[in-house]
Amino acid sequence: MLKRFISYYKPHIWLFILDMVCAVLISATDLIYPMITRKLINNIIPSKNISLIFQIGILLLILYILRMLFEYIVGYYGHVLGVRMEYDMRKEMFTHIQSLPISYFDNTKTGQIMSRIVNDLNEISELAHHGPEDIFISTLMIVGSFFLLLNINIKLTIIVFTIIPFMVYFTVVYNSKMRKNFRRIRESLADVNSRLEDSLSGIRVVKSFTNEEYEIDKFDENNNEFKCLRTKSVKYIGILHGGINFFSNISTLLALIAGGYFVAKGEISVGDLVAYLIYIGQFLQPVKRIAQFVEQYQRGMAGFKRFYEIMNIKPDIFDKENAVEIENVSGKVEFKNVSFSYNDKTTVLKNINLTVMEGECIAVVGPSGAGKTTLCSLIPRFYDVDSGNIYVDGIDIKDIRIKSLRQNIGVVQQDVFLFAGTIRDNILYGRLDATEEEVIRAAKAANAHEFIMELEDGYDTYIGERGVKLSGGQKQRISIARMFLKNPPILILDEATSSLDNQSELIIQKSIEELSKGRTTFIIAHRLATIKNAKRIIVLTENGIEEEGTHRELMNKKGIYYELYKTQFE
Ligand code: ADP
Ligand code: MG
Repeated sequence: MLKRFISYYKPHIWLFILDMVCAVLISATDLIYPMITRKLINNIIPSKNISLIFQIGILLLILYILRMLFEYIVGYYGHVLGVRMEYDMRKEMFTHIQSLPISYFDNTKTGQIMSRIVNDLNEISELAHHGPEDIFISTLMIVGSFFLLLNINIKLTIIVFTIIPFMVYFTVVYNSKMRKNFRRIRESLADVNSRLEDSLSGIRVVKSFTNEEYEIDKFDENNNEFKCLRTKSVKYIGILHGGINFFSNISTLLALIAGGYFVAKGEISVGDLVAYLIYIGQFLQPVKRIAQFVEQYQRGMAGFKRFYEIMNIKPDIFDKENAVEIENVSGKVEFKNVSFSYNDKTTVLKNINLTVMEGECIAVVGPSGAGKTTLCSLIPRFYDVDSGNIYVDGIDIKDIRIKSLRQNIGVVQQDVFLFAGTIRDNILYGRLDATEEEVIRAAKAANAHEFIMELEDGYDTYIGERGVKLSGGQKQRISIARMFLKNPPILILDEATSSLDNQSELIIQKSIEELSKGRTTFIIAHRLATIKNAKRIIVLTENGIEEEGTHRELMNKKGIYYELYKTQFE
């Protein structure tokens, strides 16, 4: 996983190098100046060479100006590096999520996915920037100051460093507690998000049942858990920071007292002690930084791990290597011995055999839950069959490139999904490069032009999230206009008019008839009156296709269709 993380530095390698070089230069200035101080106190001040003292002052000033410059570069470009890496990951993740099959979304809450794209990746940019800097530079500083400390006085160094093992042990213990905690925090935040998503997208239902209190309580459950985990985490952070500062103060104290003792006994000079105390500070600072970095690392890595998990989900519906494009599709669809189940437990479709000729219109009826929607979602490969084959124009759909296949199939559903945006945007969704003229022609064909023109801003009317500002019939007409633009040779109408009132249904029925002309059409109908005139009706039950024929033939048969029809009209 770390290897994968590191690979994201690759495109920004020069930024990374710049950042690192400047960070090394900062440490170098930090290591040089106590040496100069030591010389100043030990030799130059006692020699009373005033001009040399001032020269050294100017030298140090230059050193600090340079340091400021390096610090600016590290602070600015280092963060740019982090932000760019975060951008790359977010983009990659969104792209990957778009490629995942519908079954993934059936089983995952939207809020959970959103949390991964937004929150989890937030932590990563900080880690990406500070990570290498903290590790390399701190190590460099620790090693550098350590040798300089030894160089000044070995005995003092041994005394001062007796405290270090305790400090390390303490840090390790608390860091491992924090690591577990951060992972749970991320999960908990995702829960808060998905609760929020769910409740907001169902806000109309919430209000109509006046279940606001209930929603608030449920939200509070998640929010409270999040709070508790966060509380625990800040407690660990508090203990860790306090503890580390305590240990580092103790080692400074040891250096001061033992060093003072050695100075009093004349074993070391005052300049040595001053330089020693500065180096001790410089030694402890990166130690503290590493300890704090571990916290950042764990937060970032908890986020990256969740990123990594999603990136590792392989879509199970993908193009074969030598998949073909289909063009000028005439639209013949065949099912051969098709069986399918969503999970291994229950088979939804058993041994389906069905041939629909090009341009033919077929009505699919049957009790609710029989698998009508499922049958039709197999054609665009929203799901893959368990066994058997489906052919379009005689080619197995598994041999066709998915994009090419789906471009040739149009699905109109009962609940229309419109995107936040204008009416024009939503019609254009059918074919993004269509001209204004084509949009209007499509809207006219769908009987939508008239009502659109009556709206205040016409085609520029903003229809709000999910088209909340339109009636069901209007939404459906826009979705049909969209389909006219897409112009697919194969059309699936899945209870497209089921939720509409009679009058809207009548209008839409007409546009649907217009739309299905010359296309292979599957009409899934709940209200049998709407398909009475179909030339061919198939009756799907949980046992497969049980009956087939025209309305009259099926009525005469007095079988399932007859029963269904009777219950609807009595
Ligand atoms: P119909 O459209 O005929 O009413 P469906 O094709 O929607 O029936 O559903 C057929 C069966 O498959 C039902 O038992 C339903 O519960 C189940 N089902 C539908 N969609 C899914 C899904 N995404 N995951 C699991 N089971 C599903
Ligand atoms: Mg259905």
